[in-house]
Amino acid sequence: MSFEIKDKDLAGRIGVIKTSHGVIETPAFFPVINPLRQDQELSVSKITEVGFKQIITNAYIIKKYFSEKALSLGIHKLLEFEGPIMTDSGAYQILQYGEIDVTNREIVEFEKDIEPDIAVILDIPTSDDATYKQAKKSVEETLRRAREVLDIVKSSPNIIWVLPIQGGIYLDLVSYSASQASQLIDYEMYAIGSPVKVMEHYKFWILTDMIFTAKSKLPVDKPVHLFGAGHPMILPFAVALGVDTFDSASYVIYARDDRYMTDSGTIRLKDLITLPCECPICSKYEPRDLLEMPKIQRVKLLATHNLYVIMREIKRIKIAISEGRLWELLEIRAKSHPLLYRALHSFKKYAKYLESLDPRTKGNIHGIFIFDRMSLYRPKIKRFRNTCRDLIHSHIWIGRRKRLIVIPGDPDNKPFSNSAIFAKVISELNVDYKNDAICFYIPILGIIPWELEDLYPASQFEMILEFEDNALKDLEDLLINTIKALQNSISEIILIIDNNIPWSLKVIKRVISSLTMDKNLSKKIKLIELK
Ligand SMILES: [Zn+2]
Repeated sequence: MSFEIKDKDLAGRIGVIKTSHGVIETPAFFPVINPLRQDQELSVSKITEVGFKQIITNAYIIKKYFSEKALSLGIHKLLEFEGPIMTDSGAYQILQYGEIDVTNREIVEFEKDIEPDIAVILDIPTSDDATYKQAKKSVEETLRRAREVLDIVKSSPNIIWVLPIQGGIYLDLVSYSASQASQLIDYEMYAIGSPVKVMEHYKFWILTDMIFTAKSKLPVDKPVHLFGAGHPMILPFAVALGVDTFDSASYVIYARDDRYMTDSGTIRLKDLITLPCECPICSKYEPRDLLEMPKIQRVKLLATHNLYVIMREIKRIKIAISEGRLWELLEIRAKSHPLLYRALHSFKKYAKYLESLDPRTKGNIHGIFIFDRMSLYRPKIKRFRNTCRDLIHSHIWIGRRKRLIVIPGDPDNKPFSNSAIFAKVISELNVDYKNDAICFYIPILGIIPWELEDLYPASQFEMILEFEDNALKDLEDLLINTIKALQNSISEIILIIDNNIPWSLKVIKRVISSLTMDKNLSKKIKLIELK
């Protein structure tokens, strides 16, 4: 197998997995094909019409019901599909029914013989309600099984073998599982399971914690799959953390239940007055038409629409990665549901990890959008603030300069030195660049030395004007700490307020009241208010 990463944003990537039946461009979604329900539900050809170029099916079901046919034809001819096919192993059935009547070795051998492109060993999934002890057992048993079939894995180089990571909600176990799995280098792909209850109740932050924990231990150059990622709303969050492929049967499970997927959740068909989508199904029918038709026909149409919604989200994610705006897609999705908002907030914990993987340079640089304090955790902003901080605290910046001039950065006039207030300050204060250190202060972006005003994204952003107090507090603290750190190197600190910028007065007032508590510092501070 080869997995080539073409583009990156946050920890997400656009990549290409080469298989024996063509390439899979990631992020990719594998619709689940149930070979027992092909007649009642969507055929493979209908699924490919939506644009999916890869599918996943269940080797356990195939072995149980179509064993001989599958062995003689191979999985591709059996399903009449020549693109990449992934086979799951029956672990899902273990979750549902407890034990199943086949061993790991038997199913892996069967998978090898029917020749899928990607295959999962028969792991022991950690169930939703597992105790710590049970979860630990599923981790150990899955690793044991991974080692047990290594000879088969090694002797079937045309199949990409997948090793699932276990541990469920117990993150130390997930971490252990992933670090052990990463040592089994014959497995070319890893997988993480989505706990069903977590997904059903939209407790996505539990899932993002699991993904983050596993990804932190897994090698970055191997693709990672997420099982059961049924709802499109979770996809950008999972991709942002480094998940490459997904599968789910939810498109048809929801359809059977008359549930209609949207970007922000599912809606019961009977509750819709019209279909808010432009796919071929929604362009043709009204909810009433669907409700009046025979169930079998309705399920097919709803399932098709649901697949279109998933496909659309995958495409949006790809575009967002290529434009370096995956973070903004997360922010948009987060605002469509409070529980997704919570998931985005858990990204604060992943800031370091994201920063380590987020690309430093991108050919196609777009301005970034700043809405609130969450942007402080965005890798591109964190990195920019660090660069500014490093320059401000280096000896060369203050050097022999006597005055520190702190000017509000006008978000509507970029670069900041183009603003009227900057020109005013320069002339009224008789600024000379040899003796004066000049910097701009602005929420979220922080303190920007004048010399770095052209560094991305100091001049390439759009932001709101009225920030909430917690965003301003960050700027106040930054100003207070920076001025305190520099106070011995300079003789005068000039703080400028621009009354046209609403946060300017607020921030400087609080900074002054804090700094003037220090008598020595107080003498050095001068406040200038510009109208
Ligand atoms: Zn539609």
